[in-house]
Amino acid sequence: MNVHDSERLAGMLEDAGYERAGSGDADVVVFNTCAVRENADNRLYGTLGHMRPAKDRNPNMQIAVGGCLAQKDRDTIVKRAPWVDVVFGTHNLGSLPTLLERARHNEEAEVEILEALDVFPSTLPARRESAYSGWVSVSVGCNNTCTFCIVPALRGKEKDRRPGEILAEVQALVSEGVLEVTLLGQNVNAYGVEFGDRFAFGKLLRSCGEIEGLERVRFTSPHPRDFTDDVIEAMAATPNVCPQLHMPLQSGSDRILKAMRRSYRSERYLNILRNVREAMPDAAITTDIIVGFPGETEEDFEATLEVVRQARFSSAFTFQYSKRPGTPAAELPDQLPKEVVQQRYDRLIELQNEISWAENKNLVGRPVELLVAEGEGRKDAETHRLSGRARDGRLVHFTPTGAVDREIRPGDVVHTTITRAAPHHLVADTDISSHRRTRAGDHWEEGVRPKTSGVTLGLPSFGAPAPQPIAEQGCAC
Ligand code: SF4
Repeated sequence: MNVHDSERLAGMLEDAGYERAGSGDADVVVFNTCAVRENADNRLYGTLGHMRPAKDRNPNMQIAVGGCLAQKDRDTIVKRAPWVDVVFGTHNLGSLPTLLERARHNEEAEVEILEALDVFPSTLPARRESAYSGWVSVSVGCNNTCTFCIVPALRGKEKDRRPGEILAEVQALVSEGVLEVTLLGQNVNAYGVEFGDRFAFGKLLRSCGEIEGLERVRFTSPHPRDFTDDVIEAMAATPNVCPQLHMPLQSGSDRILKAMRRSYRSERYLNILRNVREAMPDAAITTDIIVGFPGETEEDFEATLEVVRQARFSSAFTFQYSKRPGTPAAELPDQLPKEVVQQRYDRLIELQNEISWAENKNLVGRPVELLVAEGEGRKDAETHRLSGRARDGRLVHFTPTGAVDREIRPGDVVHTTITRAAPHHLVADTDISSHRRTRAGDHWEEGVRPKTSGVTLGLPSFGAPAPQPIAEQGCAC
């Protein structure tokens, strides 16, 4: 969501006349921050400190800080880093050009944080980073109150977009050659709660199935509580919905789930997985797990390991619990010592790696369709391979030899066969069996990226000052 917000910030600034800067010569630097984990918090102030000499050298350079951390810290940011020019929150991304202009004109810092959404962010223009894959927000905010999570405090209650608007944005992306969309929401399958349709998310998936040219639909992140059978049915019945599910577990201990205020229990969770696999036997299921929640005992942790053994996740995002001031869990007694958390974390990773590797080995010899990706294979240059994502989301590094008509580009589609498995990726070192050149690949080659226009409701527009370059930075999440 944060990365997609950065695309909107870039789109808005381009509309206001700014241009993307090369490295090192930006007149405006925007930090779009994340507050989910403590180290993101620490990193912002460290990075702002590093910016200070550049600002001293070029006092006309403007620094803006937005996103969740700005929403949380507000004017603390300009107190700790008085060389920052603009602070804006999660509810008023659209104000950035105005605030930059005002700060320049008044020669003082502008801090503007709203308590509720100004306009739905998707009504803002977005400069997309990828020629072949696009994010589409279906909702923002979350009505849950998980005790470790700072999101509801910073993103507010859930706001749903109308289905027509969402589908129009998907269509707009597809018209620009995009092959894959990921529907985004903090609690994506609660979609519809605001307008009273609990089956809205399943219906949305089915409607995506009718969009010609849309080859892959993904979504993130669902909540087990709201994961109803109709969503599984819609996934299985809609051919362009990918056989992939990211389903946050967080803990396998019912006692800890209760303390986290996660309203499902481990049995319900495993049941959902069984139903998904019954409907889609090849589905790759991934998860998020927090280790070391306050009060977690060895027995609780063992329960998590047991669910992990049964769930057979293809991979897991594992986190050591990090205390977020302002959340109920931060006040709980029994915060665990770092060594205990680290030791459990290492055990969990070891188990999950074994499972991921075993699951990946089962795929050796299988044919696979890949959407060729950019920047996914760090060693591709050395190994003379390219990389792509399978329909189930797995990362595959492949050798681009065989039946290739000219060069394979990111955004093209190839078919090949898996020859080797590793815990975190697959390898296809055999001749590819087909290569389809796509418009997305053409656009990638020409440097063309989709731009969704949005509607800048009520926002005054401002021209950029000369000189114009702009750098835009997302956080690393
Ligand atoms: S459902 Fe997700 S976003 Fe909502 S409170 Fe829980 S962890 Fe946070």
